[in-house]
Amino acid sequence: MDRDVRLAGWVFRRRDHGGLIFVDLRDVTGIVQIVFSPEIAPDAHASAHDIKQEYVIRVEGKVSRRPEGTENTNIPTGEIEVYATKLDVLNTCKPLPFQLEEDEEPNESLRLKYRYLDMRRPQVQKIFTERSRALQVLRSYLVSQGFFEIETPFLTKSTPEGARDFIVPSRLNLGQFYALPQSPQLFKQILMVAGFNRYFQLVRCFRDEDLRADRQPEFTQLDLEMSFVDVDDVIALSEGVTKELVEALRGDRLETPFVRMDYDEAMERYGTDKPDLRFDLPMVELTDTFTNTGFGVFKKIVGEGGAIKAIVLKGRTLSRKDLDDAVDSAKGMGSGGLIWMRKEADKLASPIVKFLSEQETTGIIERLGVQEGDILFIMADSRARVNELMGRFRLYLGAKYDLIQKDQFRFLWVVNFPLLEYSEEEKRYVARHHPFTSGMHSIIGYSGDYDTIKAKAYDLVLNGVEIGGGSIRNFRSDEQMAMFQLLKISDEQAVEQFGFLLEALEMGAPPHGGIAFGFDRMLMMLMNLESIRDVIPFPKTQKGTCLLSGAPARVSQKQLNELKIRTVKE
Ligand code: ASP
Repeated sequence: MDRDVRLAGWVFRRRDHGGLIFVDLRDVTGIVQIVFSPEIAPDAHASAHDIKQEYVIRVEGKVSRRPEGTENTNIPTGEIEVYATKLDVLNTCKPLPFQLEEDEEPNESLRLKYRYLDMRRPQVQKIFTERSRALQVLRSYLVSQGFFEIETPFLTKSTPEGARDFIVPSRLNLGQFYALPQSPQLFKQILMVAGFNRYFQLVRCFRDEDLRADRQPEFTQLDLEMSFVDVDDVIALSEGVTKELVEALRGDRLETPFVRMDYDEAMERYGTDKPDLRFDLPMVELTDTFTNTGFGVFKKIVGEGGAIKAIVLKGRTLSRKDLDDAVDSAKGMGSGGLIWMRKEADKLASPIVKFLSEQETTGIIERLGVQEGDILFIMADSRARVNELMGRFRLYLGAKYDLIQKDQFRFLWVVNFPLLEYSEEEKRYVARHHPFTSGMHSIIGYSGDYDTIKAKAYDLVLNGVEIGGGSIRNFRSDEQMAMFQLLKISDEQAVEQFGFLLEALEMGAPPHGGIAFGFDRMLMMLMNLESIRDVIPFPKTQKGTCLLSGAPARVSQKQLNELKIRTVKE
C-alpha cells in the first residue's frame, strides 16, 4: 500500500462520478482501477475528462486500499486502486467497430477483420495466454524426456497425407513447384536415420481441404518421432504428453493408461473409428438370431450376407412421436428403415412382431437382456452400412436423450487398424494412414486378402474426435517397396516421389515410429470452445480467406512475369 507505481495500458472503461473519474486500465495481465481526483492531481484529472475507450495511457500514482464496501471481488486487484498523480495520453483510438467489454460475442467477421481488437478482450486474451502456456508445457515435458526440437522445411515436396497440397511456384526453377508440407512425415523419418532418436516439433501443416468447423488450411501439430520403439512405447509417451497438457490446462488429474479398443470392435459396436465413450449405448449383433427367419426384410439381408443389429435405450418412456422422429432421423441419414420394439411384461411390442417366430423374439430378449420398458431399435442392411448408420443413429440418441456426460474427457486409443482400404474413387487399395506405416507382420510377397492386413497404427480419440494418430514405420526399404507394390505405385513412381526416403532407408535406418497430435483441436476441446478458429491467433474463414490481411490476393504482373505464370479467366 502507498507504493508509487507507473502503469501503462488501455482504457477499458471510464466512469465520471462528478468529482472523481474512474478508469479501468487494462493490459494482458489484468485490470486495475485508476482514480483521478481534482484535489490530488488537477492536471491529470482535467486530461482524464478527454480520454476515451481504448486510448493508450500511462499513469503515475499511489496504490491505496479501496474504501470499505467498494471492493470488487471479481478481479484480483479488486481491493486496491491507484490514485493518479500524472497522466500521459500515449495514443488515441477511433470509435470501435464493436464493444470490447461486453460478454456477448461480436459478429465473427468483424472479430476476424479486427482480430487485434478482438484479442484485446479479456476472454480472448486468456485463450492465447493459455495457448502460449500449453506450448511451453509441451516443450519442457518433451525436452525432459530426451527429445530434440528440430525444424523441417516448409518449401518441400508433396507428402501423401491424403489431402490436396498447397503449391508454390519456384522462380529459380521455372515450371517447378514446391508443396507446403501436409506434415513433416518424411523429414522426421529422415531425422531418425540421421540418429536423433527422439524428435519433436510444434509445426504448422498445410492441407488444401474444404473447411469445416474444426478444420483450417494451416494448423499446428505436435509432431513426434522415436527410434527403437514399438507401438506400446509411442502410446506410453503420448499418454505422458496428454496428461501433462490436460493437467496444465484443466488442473484435473488424468488417469493413464487410456482404454484401448481394436478398430474392428469400434466399428462393430459403435460404427466409427472414433467412438464417443462419454455414453455407452453399443450396437449388438442380432444377425444369427435370424438365420432361418421367415420375415422377408431380414431374410433378404441375411441371404445377402448383411447384418442385423440393435441398440437398446433403457429407462426412457418414448411417445409414438418420439419413435416416429427416431425412424425419420434414421431415414434422413440414408437408412432404408429402422424398426423399433418395446419390451412389455413378457413380450415385445412392435409393428413387425407378428412376422417373427417365438424363438426369434425370445432370442432378441435374451441376447439384449432387455427389461420391461426398454426400447430397441433394429436396423438391417449390409454390414458396412448398418455400422455406419447405427453409429450415427447412436449419436442422435445420445444427443436427443441427453446421454452424453458433457463434463467428461474420455480418451481412447483405437488400435489394430487395417493397413489398407479400398478406394472406390481410385479403384485401388490406398493406405489407411499413410504409405509409410508398417504392417503388423511383414508384407513382402504378400498375396492374401488385402482387407485383413493389420497395421501398427494407432489413433488417439477424445470424446468422439480424433486428436492424434501415428504408426510404426517401414524402416527397411524392401518392406517399404512391398507397401508401394500393394498400393500399385510403380517402382519408377516410388523413386520419383520418395526416392530420397528409400535411399535413406538403405543406409542404416533404425526401427522407428511416431505420432502427431492436432494441437489446435486439443486446445479447443480442453478449453470447451466451439470452433478451431477460437484457438488459432489469425484463422481463416470457411472460404480460406484471412479477413484481417485480405489474403489470398492478386499479385503484381511483375511477380507473375518472373514466374512465367499466365492466369486464365474462368
Ligand atoms: N504424419 C501423420 C499425420 O500428420 C502422423 C504420423 O504418422 O506421425 O497424420
